[in-house]
Amino acid sequence: MSQASEFEPLFVEEIPRNFEPGKLYISIEYTTVAHLCACGCGNEVVTPLHPARWTLTYDGERVSLWPSVGSWNLPCRSHYVIKRNKVQWARPWSDETSCVNPPRG
Ligand SMILES: [Zn+2]
Repeated sequence: MSQASEFEPLFVEEIPRNFEPGKLYISIEYTTVAHLCACGCGNEVVTPLHPARWTLTYDGERVSLWPSVGSWNLPCRSHYVIKRNKVQWARPWSDETSCVNPPRG
């Protein structure tokens, strides 16, 4: 398993049962985007598309997902942004949210 630096967008009707690393599955039908965590841990990350949740931008070739994907419920605690297919690593989730959430423990 290796860290993904880029995702290839795949427009699908239904999100497949098994994900391939480096693929970003986009289901307009189910307004959902799903991918394997970019850190390579193999966990599935599902981001529902909704004005109050995640927004997908497609320029005809590349996709951007906003806001950042924060896998705070996964052991890896990965936090990154997918911008024009590229993975941009962000600060650890705990730092990012420390201003709105009190630190744990
Ligand atoms: Zn991960």
